[in-house]
Amino acid sequence: MATESTLKEGRRAPGSEWLKNHPRWLETAYKFTEKLFLGMYPVLGRVGFFKRLMVPAESLTKGYLFNCQMCGQCVLHSTGMTCPMTCPKNLRNGPCGGVRANGNCEVIPDLPCVWVQAWERSQQMTLYSDEMKIIQPPVNRALHNTSSWVNMAEGVDTVLPVGWQQASGNKEASE
Ligand code: SF4
Repeated sequence: MATESTLKEGRRAPGSEWLKNHPRWLETAYKFTEKLFLGMYPVLGRVGFFKRLMVPAESLTKGYLFNCQMCGQCVLHSTGMTCPMTCPKNLRNGPCGGVRANGNCEVIPDLPCVWVQAWERSQQMTLYSDEMKIIQPPVNRALHNTSSWVNMAEGVDTVLPVGWQQASGNKEASE
């Protein structure tokens, strides 16, 4: 199968697909790193350059492994360790209705659908497999190019922008 698309969503770094196809390693590493990071963040977060350093560090490592698009609100462990932002349609919940009969993408025909892969990989996971069924809120573009680890530690990634809160309040009021 060809994997030579020039679109950035279609990039696949050597070795990264193998790792993502064995997501139990990744979910264990994530759980360990999350615990360590949150435990150390009260100290590390006070170091001036630490937050700035996290942006290129995350971009390099997650960029290689997951083709991370630096959305700043990482949901990898909830999506089968498969980055939803590499879906050419940027769907935060998927798949769309355009998946081909062979499981490939409607937009990049020579590549597997990100969401089909996300589902299949999530079924191999033991710690976070159920999180695949969670409906994700729309991505907050204001967090683009920031560190999702820092945003998680500071609780920024779960805060809805003010306009969205008002919209959801209006909806509730009209129901
Ligand atoms: S969900 Fe966001 S932060 Fe996580 S790998 Fe994808 S683009 Fe990067």
